[in-house]
Amino acid sequence: MSITPLMPVYPRCDVRPVEGDGCHLITEDGRRLLDFASGIAVNSLGHSHPALIEAIQSQAAKLMHVSNMYGSPQGERLAQMIVDTTFADTVFFTNSGAEAVECAIKTARAYHQREGGDPKRTEIITFSMAFHGRTMATISASNQDKMHKGFLPLLPGFKYVEFDDLEAARAAVGPHTAGFLVEPIQGEGGIRPASQEFLTGLRDICDEQDLMLVLDEVQCGVGRTGKLYAHELYDVQPDILATAKGIAGGFPLGACLATEKGAQGMGFGSHGSTYGGNPLAMAAGEAVWKIISDEAFLADVTARGERLRGALEQFIGNHSDLFELVRGKGLMLGLKMKVESRPFYEHLRDHHDLMTVAAADNTIRVLPPLVIEDAHIDEFMQKLSAGAASYKVPEAA
Ligand code: PLP
Repeated sequence: MSITPLMPVYPRCDVRPVEGDGCHLITEDGRRLLDFASGIAVNSLGHSHPALIEAIQSQAAKLMHVSNMYGSPQGERLAQMIVDTTFADTVFFTNSGAEAVECAIKTARAYHQREGGDPKRTEIITFSMAFHGRTMATISASNQDKMHKGFLPLLPGFKYVEFDDLEAARAAVGPHTAGFLVEPIQGEGGIRPASQEFLTGLRDICDEQDLMLVLDEVQCGVGRTGKLYAHELYDVQPDILATAKGIAGGFPLGACLATEKGAQGMGFGSHGSTYGGNPLAMAAGEAVWKIISDEAFLADVTARGERLRGALEQFIGNHSDLFELVRGKGLMLGLKMKVESRPFYEHLRDHHDLMTVAAADNTIRVLPPLVIEDAHIDEFMQKLSAGAASYKVPEAA
């Protein structure tokens, strides 16, 4: 048999972490890497944060899981915290980002299929280079052929339009449109922030035509941009929002947030999840939310983001052969390269003990834990500079 016990769907690299220590990862063979990837924007509090460990350990000793058929004091507590600090009036907890997006899609359709709604409005308009997850609905929501290959047929009910093109979005709306699904800052797509006009314009179209504005903030949410959610930077409110990744700092948790209006179609029995929102996940989420929703913490993320961005801007000025620009918000930054970005990401990882994340559009994603300090930024810049100085662009094959 040649297949590996772990289904070979990931091209895994030789870095094999066995321990985390704050903003560093320690590998099986004793390497210590600076982690400016955070498990792709997940380890918001870094590794082994005492508050998160304490919350998980003590809840695990008390009660890990019960059915969602029972009352949930733990879920009510976290949902209330989220409702108190965001646009949302109600929350459905999931175990992952894709499930949160699935719930968001269902919620948008259910809005139109509720009694008195307009049930022919089933189609969701999505945008080029988007990433919404790997389930059948979430791959169908993305225009990327590489994610579709081998899994056809796609689910119907999605229409793709160019990202950040408001006129194209407006032109795509028809009698079957249910709403828009959009990342305010595309993550996998290469840290590409939507323009203010685009997001404001989508909101206006939704208001004019009674459509749902669904935001996918799985990657850009939970404090990453210096606001709890990136849409706050734009002063644009969604009807429905999907969140996950950083929300429980590494414990699997996601959520679909909605306004009361947006959630009108979601009644008893309309949706569910065995694990979603179990007491252990709620304890992890609560520990993270308490820290991240604090205004002073968010202000620190903004300040660290500005310092890191300033250092990156200066750095790319010295390496104009390799780098084109810096983009993103807060601690969700992208270095767009003039050459292919993946080999440079591998070079940093293999030769400079630095973890970043490669993304589309030849971008290196810089996604540190939100708790980094100045010393980590200094260490990052020193490793990045050494990496750029020693880098030889591979010859085209
Ligand atoms: N949406 C966005 C914007 C993402 O970046 C991701 C994951 O990278 C997802 C959805 C899917 O999340 P998950 O992998 O937890 O299912």
